[in-house]
Amino acid sequence: LVSRELKPEDTVIDVSGVAVGNGHLMMIAGPCAIESEEQALSTARLVRKAGARMFRGGAFKPRTSPYDFQGLGEEGLRILAKVREETGMPVVTEAIDHEVFELVEAYADVIQIGARNMQNFSLLRRAGKASKPILLKRGIAATIEEWLMAAEYIMEGGNPRVILCERGVRTFAHHSRNTLDLSAIPVVRKESHLPVIVDPSHAAGRRDQVIPLSRAAVAVGCHGLMVEVHRAPEQALSDGAQSLYPEQYEDLFRQIEPIFNVY
Ligand code: PEP
Ligand code: MN
Repeated sequence: LVSRELKPEDTVIDVSGVAVGNGHLMMIAGPCAIESEEQALSTARLVRKAGARMFRGGAFKPRTSPYDFQGLGEEGLRILAKVREETGMPVVTEAIDHEVFELVEAYADVIQIGARNMQNFSLLRRAGKASKPILLKRGIAATIEEWLMAAEYIMEGGNPRVILCERGVRTFAHHSRNTLDLSAIPVVRKESHLPVIVDPSHAAGRRDQVIPLSRAAVAVGCHGLMVEVHRAPEQALSDGAQSLYPEQYEDLFRQIEPIFNVY
């Protein structure tokens, strides 16, 4: 079902009236985690002004340490709904497990399946029954075939609306948190009709690499970018080091526009 052989034309996914995969670059931005209404709304207004079309933010966070901030839970989802109401931007947020899936489904415009869950097959089956599009992140050490097979689970389950997201894979390098696999983009676009976006933030793990990687991702043909932006990154409760300042997000836009206009 994911294969381009069966469906030669690109799939365009409608997300609450916003199209992904249609030849326009889908710009998704927002903080790693929803921390408060004030933090979410102020960041949302800033990224929207800079040109973002969709807002991201985790209410349930998959954290490496159990002692780290785990997200606001349903309160975070309520804040996301408020952001949508105030700004008109559809919202992307993660369902970290079965337990919260239905709740996330009720609030989100796009349900994210995180890298750590890419091969959680029962969660993928649940996503296949979802009424909302799924943003499927590539697993931390997943091959492209495994990633596409994960998408196949969702589509086979009955949900054709899958957006793929490259977010870097684990390598021996430690000049960045993960290694952004730019070569995956043309491969995925050849193998599959599904839209594929890039998350340079989780790939880099540090903000100084986010803009250059964004330029490269656009040049290599992704359908969109999902970038972490925080109104005050030094105060962020998660992923502050990779979160852009709002002014940097404006700058990112200025830098990718001429590249994208090329094709
Ligand atoms: C995220 O986008 O919030 C996230 C946790 O990313 P990943 O699953 O790619 O690590
Ligand atoms: Mn994050």
